[in-house]
Order: sequence, then structure tokens, then C-alpha cells
Amino acid sequence: GSRAVEREVDSVCPYCGVGCQISYKIRDGEIAYVEGREGPANENRLCVKGRFGFDYISNPQRLTKPLIRRENAPKGLNIDPANPLTHFRETSWDEALGLAAGGLNRIRKDHGGHAIAGFGSAKGSNEEAYLFQKLIRQAFGTNNVDHCTRLCHASSVAALMEGIGSGAVTAPFTDALQADVIIVIGANPTENHPVAATYFKQAAKAGARLIVMDPRGHALRNHASDLVQFRPGSDVALLNAMMHVIVAEELYDRQYVQAHTEGFDKLSAHLARYTPEAMAPVCGIEAGRIRELARAYAQAERAMIFWGMGVSQHTHGTDNARCLISLALMTGHVGRPGTGLHPLRGQNNVQGASDAGLIPMVLPDYAKVSDPATRERFEALWGFAIDPQPGLTVVEIIEAIHREEIRAMYIMGENPAMSDPDVAHAREALAALDHLVVQDIFLTETAMFADIILPASAWPEKTGTVTNTNRQVQMGRPALPPPGDAREDLAIIIDLARHLGLDWDYTHPREVFAEMAQVMPSMANISWERLEREGAVTYPCPAPDEPGSAIVFGDGFPREGGRGLFVPADVTDPAELPDEAFPLVLTTGRQLEHWHTGAMTRRASVLDAIEPGPSASLHPDTLARLGIAPGETIRVETRRGAISLPARADTALQSRMVFIPFAYVEAAANILTNPVLDPYGKIPEFKFCAARVARE
Ligand code: SF4
Repeated sequence: GSRAVEREVDSVCPYCGVGCQISYKIRDGEIAYVEGREGPANENRLCVKGRFGFDYISNPQRLTKPLIRRENAPKGLNIDPANPLTHFRETSWDEALGLAAGGLNRIRKDHGGHAIAGFGSAKGSNEEAYLFQKLIRQAFGTNNVDHCTRLCHASSVAALMEGIGSGAVTAPFTDALQADVIIVIGANPTENHPVAATYFKQAAKAGARLIVMDPRGHALRNHASDLVQFRPGSDVALLNAMMHVIVAEELYDRQYVQAHTEGFDKLSAHLARYTPEAMAPVCGIEAGRIRELARAYAQAERAMIFWGMGVSQHTHGTDNARCLISLALMTGHVGRPGTGLHPLRGQNNVQGASDAGLIPMVLPDYAKVSDPATRERFEALWGFAIDPQPGLTVVEIIEAIHREEIRAMYIMGENPAMSDPDVAHAREALAALDHLVVQDIFLTETAMFADIILPASAWPEKTGTVTNTNRQVQMGRPALPPPGDAREDLAIIIDLARHLGLDWDYTHPREVFAEMAQVMPSMANISWERLEREGAVTYPCPAPDEPGSAIVFGDGFPREGGRGLFVPADVTDPAELPDEAFPLVLTTGRQLEHWHTGAMTRRASVLDAIEPGPSASLHPDTLARLGIAPGETIRVETRRGAISLPARADTALQSRMVFIPFAYVEAAANILTNPVLDPYGKIPEFKFCAARVARE
């Protein structure tokens, strides 16, 4: 209606890493609607999730009281999230926190701190991520703390740290407007980073050559100059062949290579055998086309590369990213306007949560726990001893539970019972824990395994900062209070720390941010007051009165010696190839309306109305060959399990592929996926496993 709103609260969208600035319009004590603001990443634009995906916060299934599992109540997914009291009883915060801390301390006493692990969240604030990792390291003396970055860009970050000494993007996606050539590879921004996609479309419309490289020909192809639909898993073959051409035809930037890189001779020798003719049958792209694409990228005045999970979620994800880095380095397409490397970050705060140290092998700002001087620095600042042994990663923690090495967990805002690969195996692990504390806003699939559930705050109910894919740190503000007895997440973490015996005296996120700025060089010149006043500041920021450096590495890289490193990559097969029994390739991902495991978006009425249920997409010819009509229920099976769901016809897919979004518990895609890991990033191969499909 047209009735005036009572209040407007400026914040940031809680969904994807684009980080659109929004304004909540409050009427009658509720969010009436949401509008985009003039933020640096969105300039008033919003996608359907940001605009309509907010009424989950008032869904009747919100948790409003701390819950304790009833004695002998079975653990598992057989609980109706609308009726948790069949398996849990309500309690006070004091009893819940006392039992949560008591159980964790008992495990520590009986089995040592390494028997405990924590999953923090890329959907929380920087301050929450920072305190969560500090709690695990301080209270339990272990580095077993990780979050969903492991399932997202861990391999990209491993390659970027190795190649250019920094895991974040080198330029914001808005710089696409300055580029002559834009490569978008293994990403589906139209659905997963929709507002970023609007900048790519705008650039293409203004004359830039937009090259979409992906086994799936998703919606961005309609705006692209080129769709390069290579075979699933053949990224290295395609990219090595492109680099072969650039070296053979001397299209590389000799001056840049000499001034700013090392390892070029080794790489060029390595590339000799990767001719376009040899690689064409591997990647399914003609040699002439590979040559032409290589020339277009290399000869552009300014070119940018954007990539997503299609690059990272492979057992050779780190190798895929190494090739992209080498492409940019050999052509000098880094460090100037309209050039750069940009892994499109998924969650709204996966950049910030990673920077804040929610990672088992590094402390805040990627300081290695294995390095004695680093530990000494943090021990002096923090006042407690840091375990020198790197902790376990997400998928490794699940394995360690099966080996009875990990016996208790604290999980905040993550849903491994839906997001882990081979999720039946992960659910067995969660059920086997002696003690599980889950902090969340709904009875998620993971919370169904918990002993203690702590009711938390939704994003529009709290104060905190988040860092988007562009390295822009932005301020989120509370529009409403949490419902019932639910509390702000930061207050819960602090209170749990006190119950665990830590002498924490933080009273406001501002104090946590100030401590972060003290221990994290990346936060230099960014203060809470600035963020409140300016809304967004980019790191690194050279001075308190400057907006921050949008484009970095114009004059070298933060590696020893200041040079970027070429790391050659070989073509390797995915871990599980199609065969007679399982002839198709299964790939998974998201869709525009639903966010990750669906905990929020499936409880948002508009989004749920558009996409109410699961589906498996196949090419219409594949469906016809299998005698399946669109809409019919099919059974999709892999060596790990089977699910049933309706078939959907989609010409974007190649003939031997099936695509399933992972948001739907009733047909959970991750029952099917392969948990085998990339050796460097420890990321599972969500984007490729062997499957078969039949009419049910
Ligand atoms: Fe939110 Fe991302 Fe959509 Fe922007 S593009 S409104 S940040 S989901």
C-alpha cells in the first residue's frame, strides 16, 4: 500500500557476495518492503532475493527459545521443523549455555581439545566470525575451525595465495565496464550474482566482448558474444591450449612478464605439448576456436576474468585457478583499470569470514598457525597459547568424527547436513557426536542432530560488518529485534565463551571490530565510525580519508620478491568418470530463487512460490532418448545414493549431463555427490561425478 513507512534502516543484502546496499522500510513493526540503495556494488539495483527474500524472518518456524534434546529422542531428519517440541524441550538461556559449555568442557577434559571442532558461518558478520574462531582456539586449544569457504573458493584461494600472494579479488566487478574483453568461466552470475551480471550485460551492450566459458550454457549466454561450452572437467585442457597459443604466437606481454613475474620459462616449456589440436578432442572445442579466443584475450587492451564454483569445485580446482592466474599474468591483464582476476565470492560474507580467520590453517589475515613468529605475534595480542598444529577442514572433520577423533562440535549458522558432499555419510557423523551445539534461526537439518539449540538472530536483527566480493567492508544495521528469547549471535558467542570460563568483556561489535583492526593489517584505516558514516570502505585502504584501493597490484605482488608466480598445471581426470553403469555426469549448483541449503529462501513466501520444489535438469534430447517426459518423476542415482525428483528440460545442458540444485531436503543433491577432495584447497568435487537416470 501507499501508507507511509515508519522507519527506514540502511543495511546490506544478506544473500550473495555482491553486497548490494539495501534499505528496510518498516511499518507496523514489520519489514514492509526493501529498496536498493546507492551502494558501490549495486547503484540502487537489486535481484529477486534481495528485494523479496526477507519475510523468512517472521516465518512461524523461527526458533524463539533455547532447546534441549529430550532424553532418548532419536537424532535425524524425522522431525517436523514446525514442531520441534516433539524431540526437544524449551529452556532458559542460563540452562542452555550451562549445558552447552559443560558438555564441551567435559569432552575437552576427557579427550583433549582436538576432540572438538567448530563450524562458523559466512552468513554472519565479521565480528561474529572473528570471535567464533577465537573462541575455538582459546577455549579448546585447537585450530579445528572452518566454514563453508571450504566448499566454495578454497581451491581458488590456494592458487591465488601461491601465485600472487593474496586470496581476494584484484579488481571490483564494476570494472567490467572498463574492460574490452570479459571472460566469465565456471560461473552462472545471472542466477548466483545477479547484480554483478547486470554490469557484465551492460559492458557487453556498450561493446565489450563477453566470453562465457562453461559446460552449461546458462542465461548469460543471451548477452554474450561467445558461448564456449567445453566438456565438464576439461578446464585445464582448454586453458593450457589457450596459453600455448599465446606463447607460440608471442602474444604475451614480454615487458610485464620480465618486470613482475617468475617461472615463465618453466611454464612455456610445460605448455609446449598442449597444442590446440591435441586439446580439442579433450575439451570439445575446435582448435581454430581456441586460437581465436586466446588471441582475443591476449590482444585486448584491458581484459578481466571472473570465475565461480564451476572452476573451484573440482579435485583439480586449484589447477584450474592456477591456469586463470597464469593467463592474466602472461598478458599483463592485472593491476590496471578494466583488468584483473575476480573469483566471484558466494556468500554475503565469505570474504570477511575468511579474512577474520575462520580457517583451520591460518589466523586472521591468513597468518599461518604453523609459523612460530606469527603465533608469537598473536599470542602477545591475544594473551593465550595458540596450537602450532593446523586444524582439520570441513570434510576432514566429518571423517574425524567417523574415526571417533572428534566428539563434539559447535556449529553456528551452517548446515552440513545439507551442504556436505555424500551427505548421508555426513549425517551419520553428526548423529555420532557425543555433544552437538547448534546456533541458528530455524530447526535446520543440522539442528535436528543437536543436543542443544541456541536461537539466534536473522541478519535484519543485528549490528555488524560484512565484506563483499569487491573487498568492500559494509555496515549492517538492525531493523527489528530478534523474536521471543532469540538473541544476537555475537551476544550468544560471548556468553558461551564466559560459560566456558573465558574472561571476555566485549559488550558491542564496535569493540570487536577495534580488536580486529589491531590484529589485521588489512583493516588499517578502516574504523567502525567510518563505516557507520560512509557505509562502505574498500580494503586495503591507504589513509583514513581515502575510500580504499579498488584495484591492487599495479606495481607488483605481496609475495616474497614482489613477483607473480607461474604454476604449471597438468590435465587430470575428475575422480569419478562416467562408465557403463553410471553413464551421465552430475553437476550441482544453485538457482536464482534459492540460496544454498534453502533454510532462508524456502521460508520466504515469494521465492518459495516461484520455485516450490526440486528438479533435475537434462537436455530435451537426453530426456527423449531415456523416454522421459518433462515433469515426470525420475530417479537419479550415483555410487553414494539415489533421489527422486521431477525432470526438467533445459537446452543449456550438454547431452550427457544432469544438473540438480542443492537447496531441497526432499531430494538432496548432496546424497549423490562425491566427497573426494582437491589436494591443495581440500574442496570436494561437487561439479562432477558419474550418475544414472531412470524413470521412476
Ligand atoms: Fe542480494 Fe546478491 Fe541479489 Fe544483490 S545480487 S540483491 S547482494 S542476492
